[in-house]
Amino acid sequence: MLCDKLGRELRDLRISVTDRCNFRCFFCMPPDREITFLKREDLLTYEEIREVVDMLTKLGVKKIRLTGGEPLVRTHIENLIKMISSMKQIKDIALTTNGYLLSKKIGDLKSAGLMRITISLPTLREDKFASIVGKNLSLREVLEGIKSAKEVGFKSVKINTTVVRNVNDDEILDLAEFCRKHDLILRFIEYMDVGTLNSWQREKVVSAEEILEKLRQKYKLEEIEREHKSETALKFRYTDTGQEIGIIASVTKPFCRNCNRLRLSAEGKLYPCLFSNKGLDIKSLIRNSVGRDYILQIVKSFWEEREDRYSEIREIISSKNTHRVEMFRVGG
Ligand code: SAM
Ligand code: SF4
Ligand code: SF4
Repeated sequence: MLCDKLGRELRDLRISVTDRCNFRCFFCMPPDREITFLKREDLLTYEEIREVVDMLTKLGVKKIRLTGGEPLVRTHIENLIKMISSMKQIKDIALTTNGYLLSKKIGDLKSAGLMRITISLPTLREDKFASIVGKNLSLREVLEGIKSAKEVGFKSVKINTTVVRNVNDDEILDLAEFCRKHDLILRFIEYMDVGTLNSWQREKVVSAEEILEKLRQKYKLEEIEREHKSETALKFRYTDTGQEIGIIASVTKPFCRNCNRLRLSAEGKLYPCLFSNKGLDIKSLIRNSVGRDYILQIVKSFWEEREDRYSEIREIISSKNTHRVEMFRVGG
């Protein structure tokens, strides 16, 4: 068992397969900011990603989440899913998407072995959608994507909603009702100070407590125990339907003590935290044909040295931590 300095076991790997996206959400990749995207040759190839995953399974990784940027803009992402889902050490493979291209790809994703899917839905209002996602695109495609994920038979389809004050906090109850009606597991996410571009302000964070208070105005909820201590969401059950809803309270109720996630960026660096400013360049090691045992040793030490707990110490450290990696590069 490989543990870091705070006794956290390595278990999950989040892989950003591309830093590109067909949206420019203001809380992640604001449209008015200039962004230089990676060149194709700088991205890890699918074969290289498979190589990294294979190595990391030797150190304890069992769960994979593919994300980005927008994972569905990378060509034939189903080929990567096929490669990873056929590894017997991998017990779970999930994907997070903005849903825009999903209805066209869902069959391929499912047959490639994808087990779980999370779709981001920042609003239910067509008139608000374009201003949140920074592109003149229609919400209809995302709703079609959600519908297709249910139709193709994914057991649990999760919805992510990042809540930002005065943007979509007036839709908390509407989103909850939508997910109840369509049997979707909703996760509200507190707005985070990820990356360096979103001009985050603490006042824009709608806390888990506030979200819960709003939900309790309409629904009876009981808290559910986390199945695994590394789960990120505070989970609740509606007492009338038994359906689940959760809140990821990274700002007001940090869960760093149980964070067992390593992140692989689109350009092939390993990051021990969403708020890290320094990654381990595993792509160079692989491309320079450094021996596999030696790479494993380096990654092992990298995890053993890990003591990140940014969300716990945000108030003290945030003004000093100004060079952190962008979320769309390291994977949300
Ligand atoms: N493009 C895909 C998507 O949007 O689902 C996957 C990558 S995105 C970075 C993953 C998740 O991060 C999304 O659910 C998004 O809402 C969330 N996210 C992005 N920026 C955020 C921020 N500043 N605070 C909290 N959540 C954020
Ligand atoms: Fe793209 Fe997802 Fe970031 Fe929005 S949150 S800009 S969809 S990567
Ligand atoms: Fe994990 Fe870093 Fe988030 Fe804490 S702040 S939960 S260590 S990724």
